[in-house]
Amino acid sequence: LTACGGGREGTTSDPAATGSSETAAGFAADATVGVALPWLGTQNWKEAEVLFKDQLKAAGLTPLVQSADQKVPQQQQQIEAMIEQGAKVIVVGPVDGTQLGSVLEKAHDAGIAIIGYDRLIENTTGVDAVVQFGSIRTGELQGQSLLDGLAERAGDAPYNIELFGGGPADPNAPSFFEGAMKVLQPKIDDGTLVVVSGQKDFTQVATQDWDNAKAQARMDSLLSGFYADKTIDGVLSPNDGIGRAILTSVAQAGQELPVVTGLDAENESIISINDGKQYSTVAKPTDALVAKTIELISALQKGEAMPSTDAKENNGSIDVPIFQLDPVVVTKANLKEVFANDPERLKLIEG
Ligand code: BGC
Repeated sequence: LTACGGGREGTTSDPAATGSSETAAGFAADATVGVALPWLGTQNWKEAEVLFKDQLKAAGLTPLVQSADQKVPQQQQQIEAMIEQGAKVIVVGPVDGTQLGSVLEKAHDAGIAIIGYDRLIENTTGVDAVVQFGSIRTGELQGQSLLDGLAERAGDAPYNIELFGGGPADPNAPSFFEGAMKVLQPKIDDGTLVVVSGQKDFTQVATQDWDNAKAQARMDSLLSGFYADKTIDGVLSPNDGIGRAILTSVAQAGQELPVVTGLDAENESIISINDGKQYSTVAKPTDALVAKTIELISALQKGEAMPSTDAKENNGSIDVPIFQLDPVVVTKANLKEVFANDPERLKLIEG
């Protein structure tokens, strides 16, 4: 883990520039910091749970970390409880980007700083900043990597492909898909790619709650409905869990494995990529995202303004300052290079 010290520019307060209406006046060194995570269903959120607990404690703060099992009312109640317990900052990875408006405005009005974590928080003034990996950029990398994998593994075009999206309540999911389609749509239009099912809209391809089993069931029916006499060359997958579910479905149908993308660089997918099964993933290291979040919290704790950032995203109500980290495509070709400084992940592939 690298500490993100040094670059703290925002010591002068300019609320108009950041879009945040208030700046915290500093708070006790051992104050409570709430962290509301959407679920623990993928490796990144499990890592976030552990890292936030450990690192907030290490910073002297008192962590209150909860996850909501994909349930909006549960997350609203958890945030209410954080307000009651006197949290000075609440970090939120929303289950549904649009459903926290009133509870967060209530928190914000009470002087609590709200930081969106990994996902945008939509349609509310109750958010001071968001830390994330660029979601459109992530999708572009996924789309490009599908094209690269097809050229590398699937011979000459045209290629038969299918598209999958993530959970529709998660604001990242349509953005990942939008980014991917920026790259893929021109290749669909010129005939390089053929979406055999014709299912190309986000609403048709989304996977409710990011549920791997639902993605696997959809892949099963795509294969039986459209690929009885065709091979499938590639599948756009929004994350690793769904990617592995797609691969399982194809393997069970007895077909050759297509080029499949992913996201998160989960352990199981690193192994699959190294074995030549999953084609690629996109790494968005949880430790870097947590470190960035804690850097913002530490500034607020000292009574500094929220550090500044040039990137802004309109959330439907306000322009939210966004701290964006860079995601990285990982394939078998650069696996060892990307994880050169990550002994735990290297261990997975040096068996
Ligand atoms: C995160 C991904 C994760 C997905 C499902 C998204 O918001 O950015 O890393 O795979 O949620 O948990």
